[in-house]
Amino acid sequence: MKQQQSQQPPKKDSAFSALVWGFLIVILLNWLVFPLFTGQRILPTDYGSFVQKIDSGLVKEVVVEDGEIYFTTAEGGKDYAYRTGEANDPQLVERLLNAESPNAGHKVVFTRVAPKENSPVLNFFLMWVLPGLIFYFVWRQASRSIQARMGAGGNFMSFGNSGAKIYAESDTKTTFADVAGQDEAKDTLSEIVDFLHNPKKYAEIGASLPKGALLVGPPGTGKTLIARAVAGEAKVPFFSISGSEFVQMFVGMGAAKVRDLFRQAGEKAPCIIFIDEIDAIGKSRDGNWGGNDEREQTLNQLLTEMDGFDGRKGVVILAATNRPETLDKALLRPGRFDRRVQMELPDLEGRKAILRVHLERVKHGAIDLDIVARATAGSSGAELANIVNEAALRAVRMGRRTVTTADLEESVEVVLAGAQKKNQVLSGTEKKLVAYHEIGHALVAALQTHSAPVHKITIIPRTSGALGYTLQVDSGEHVLQDKEELFNRIVTLTGGRSAEEVMLDAVTTGASNDIEQATRLARAMVTRYGMSEKYDMVELETVNNRYLGGDTSLACSPETAADVDREVMRIVKEAHRKAKEMIAGHRDIMHRAAAFLLEKETITGEEFMAIVRDGGGGVPGSPVDGGAQH
Ligand code: ADP
Ligand code: MG
Ligand code: ZN
Repeated sequence: MKQQQSQQPPKKDSAFSALVWGFLIVILLNWLVFPLFTGQRILPTDYGSFVQKIDSGLVKEVVVEDGEIYFTTAEGGKDYAYRTGEANDPQLVERLLNAESPNAGHKVVFTRVAPKENSPVLNFFLMWVLPGLIFYFVWRQASRSIQARMGAGGNFMSFGNSGAKIYAESDTKTTFADVAGQDEAKDTLSEIVDFLHNPKKYAEIGASLPKGALLVGPPGTGKTLIARAVAGEAKVPFFSISGSEFVQMFVGMGAAKVRDLFRQAGEKAPCIIFIDEIDAIGKSRDGNWGGNDEREQTLNQLLTEMDGFDGRKGVVILAATNRPETLDKALLRPGRFDRRVQMELPDLEGRKAILRVHLERVKHGAIDLDIVARATAGSSGAELANIVNEAALRAVRMGRRTVTTADLEESVEVVLAGAQKKNQVLSGTEKKLVAYHEIGHALVAALQTHSAPVHKITIIPRTSGALGYTLQVDSGEHVLQDKEELFNRIVTLTGGRSAEEVMLDAVTTGASNDIEQATRLARAMVTRYGMSEKYDMVELETVNNRYLGGDTSLACSPETAADVDREVMRIVKEAHRKAKEMIAGHRDIMHRAAAFLLEKETITGEEFMAIVRDGGGGVPGSPVDGGAQH
């Protein structure tokens, strides 16, 4: 029971325009192209030669047309065609009548074509009507393709005269079952679902539900998905529009769209209005972005509409954003978006649940969900969905009919590090360097406590530019990380370069990514986590947008900033020193593991730990974190 009131222009219109296009193309071909192919090649010549050829009795036929003279000759047994300009020559006719000719009767055949005058009607058509028509069709074609792009991929209705494209679904198939994890969000939203099911129950008691709920979280955590699921659960129409659609070129248009939207939704109540990416209009009006009239008007209209409609009628407004800190305070006050639904990145169990939901849609054998979920710490729902799809594609490529755990593991790596670059040629020395570098990371990780076990080491280059990498997979889920853990992580990051230095006496560019990560981590320890004795619990940097990259800006004086740099340097240097020490103390293991890696190109955590355990002659009771690998 889909509503499809699309007001597209009728089909025959486009057939007509195709006809016109065809017509135009034929005319163009006639004018430009065909004369090049038809007839003999016509050579230009001068009037003197023309007269000479007449007098020598070579000319067969003459046609005078439009001030040009076309004539054919027979010279030396061959036929030629010429063109020359008409000269003011009163004797031409006489000359032609008297001339000899290679023709049968020795007479030149000659004609004069009367100049053609286009009919005034045709002239008018060509000069005025045709250009107008062409312009009209080009313009219409362009504006239609823009509309098609705006309305692509859904059934939409055109509202009133604002032309807002609002996706209205009356039969949403998505339900809460499609949204894995996110139980808190579902809890909050199920009250809204109940209200939409049964508004009377609430009305009788005099309660009015929150008019709006704001879905907040990083990209890809399922905000759009869960909003649709609320409509699916409540079985009410779902009006969705993106915030950016309100922002128009002309002042007042956005506000008109808001009015339209609420009027239409009011008629269809109970229903859900969903405004995706609301930060596009809801940005704080503090003047930072220099009085954007249109956006301000649109926002004001939205605020007015939200106040204006009767909360007991059953219109619920959901909005989503990943930049909640930029929203105008007026939007968040009670009576507007007063409920805030937090959508966080999924934890271990959440990731398993999301993988399960998406694996249901592909054919698969027995899958070790645990290992995949642990390898994807920090991934969003959208990334997990992508990983499952990549795995299915890989299964097809390999000619299999079902997805296996190996497919999923490989696609995790593809999503994290890019596809394998099979044909990149590394020289022998380079390969050796990469192998020692990666084993360096792995060994340092293995020798420290509080560090995630090594899962896989590989020296197959990836399209992301990584020449190899060491995959560490945590056995559990960490919510808090302590100072020691973070420092150990920095030590592990410096392990690659340390191995190059200690084992091969080389320093390469291969550590650039490690350096970046180690520095960022050390800086965060000092400026944000209060983990330096010197600065204690003072905030030295603020995070700007928590959900989008999390870039920071300084919150301290330049002197302090310079000192922070020194503190960061001290931490990284200390870590580097420690890593070098560890590697220097385990040269045998380094040599054996690197040789093994060079030979196999990819080795598992167990294989590596086996080498570490009997460590070039066995290091009894060495502090190896050889715990469960899976
Ligand atoms: P957002 O709006 O938060 O950026 P979306 O709702 O557009 O994210 O999510 C994108 C896709 O990611 C969804 O279509 C879905 O396939 C997948 N996804 C995200 N979160 C979940 C989840 N919790 N459960 C199942 N799939 C999810
Ligand atoms: Mg979204
Ligand atoms: Zn490295």
